[in-house]
Amino acid sequence: MTMTADLPVLTAEQLEIRAMAREFAAGEIRPHAEAWDAARQLPDEIFRKVAELGFMGMRVPEEHGGLGLDLTTTLLTLEALAWGDASVALSVLIHGGPVSTCVLEWGTDAQKGAWLPSMASGETLGAFALTEPEAGSDATSLRAIATPDGEGWTIRGTKSWVTNGSRADLLLVFARTGAPDSGAAGLSAFLVPGDAPGIEVGERERTLGMAASESATLQFQDVRVGAEALLGSEGEGWSVARSALVIGRLMVAAQALGIAEAAYEHALRYGGEREQFGRPLSGFGAVQEKLAGMAIRIAGARALLLQTAARAEGEDPGSALAFPSSLHSAAAMAKVAASEAAMWTSDEAVQIFGGYGYMRDYPVERLMRDAKGTEIYEGTNEVLRWIVARDAIREHAGD
Ligand SMILES: Cc1cc2nc3c(=O)[nH]c(=O)nc-3n(C[C@H](O)[C@H](O)[C@H](O)COP(=O)(O)OP(=O)(O)OC[C@H]3O[C@@H](n4cnc5c(N)ncnc54)[C@H](O)[C@@H]3O)c2cc1C
Repeated sequence: MTMTADLPVLTAEQLEIRAMAREFAAGEIRPHAEAWDAARQLPDEIFRKVAELGFMGMRVPEEHGGLGLDLTTTLLTLEALAWGDASVALSVLIHGGPVSTCVLEWGTDAQKGAWLPSMASGETLGAFALTEPEAGSDATSLRAIATPDGEGWTIRGTKSWVTNGSRADLLLVFARTGAPDSGAAGLSAFLVPGDAPGIEVGERERTLGMAASESATLQFQDVRVGAEALLGSEGEGWSVARSALVIGRLMVAAQALGIAEAAYEHALRYGGEREQFGRPLSGFGAVQEKLAGMAIRIAGARALLLQTAARAEGEDPGSALAFPSSLHSAAAMAKVAASEAAMWTSDEAVQIFGGYGYMRDYPVERLMRDAKGTEIYEGTNEVLRWIVARDAIREHAGD
């Protein structure tokens, strides 16, 4: 694997864990990515293997059975998994990013004890259920409702495109506990067992890319949960969701970099091997310009990602709750830069492969399909640009 612009700031331990993740990805993930994409499914076995390395509990502290890795090491590991297969990385990052982060930040001791050890061991797979058919970027307009029911709650509503949705053991569900027009203030978060009666898993979505990762629509038909399911207090749901945004976006950026790096590597190799007009493609200036563009975009995005991760750790190593808006803006920039690097690089890699690039027999078309998703989830790039601009305008105005 060619690592574009490796930073000298990485510690020996970080480099060692990344090397382990890469070796694992090269041996256990990458050789199967094409078959998993065609089958539109990940085998259970890959989750077990990822769990054996402890990668299902990267951010979970050791006291709860996890590896307790710092954010930078986690991102390097995710990038390596995505270099192997973006679908695997997506499943792992949703579980180990937004879901784990919210349980860690908001869980009572009982909730942490109930879920974190089994999430870290991989026995419990987590999913994040926020988006609805009518509530995407404007997630605070969501319509699922949770009504008090004896000691607990009854949840009713529809959640769209839930990654891991059809195989999850734990669903972090956001529902309205306030009035219909209560906006963000009327939302609450719930930890719902994946096998709770009343959850109906819809058909697997037929996605453009990351086809092996499961995106499912979930119907909640009067799903009863106990009082212990409420994560945070009633009405704190949006704060719960927000607490995972910085880490979730940095993780998607890492996933996108893994895709970009893989596409770049394929393009470099093919450009050196394929000959036309009596010389390798990479002997032509037009191809060299593409390769240079890939390297520059990847290096820039990686530098921004690692710098933002270091800042996040420096701000408050113990909690994501204290992140200032400037860090939200930096994470948004990192996600936009990395996802666009992935989209651009994979598109140009297909072009360098020519007709072969357009065929399913070569990996670059899959990488291009996979890359597109990273521009959409964890905040579309348009909404993230809005966040970046809003923060800059506010800062300029001296707020
Ligand atoms: C593969 C995949 C996996 C996913 N996994 C999950 C998951 O696990 N859990 C979950 O809850 N959700 C998940 N999602 C949903 C994802 O978070 C949403 O798709 C995303 O938030 C955008 O919402 P939307 O698709 O409804 O688009 P919309 O919000 O309808 O946006 C459509 C277009 O309008 C643009 N737009 C919207 N508002 C603005 C604005 N204010 N300014 C400028 N442009 C704007 C958008 O950028 C976009 O281009 C997943 C999506 C995909 C594709």
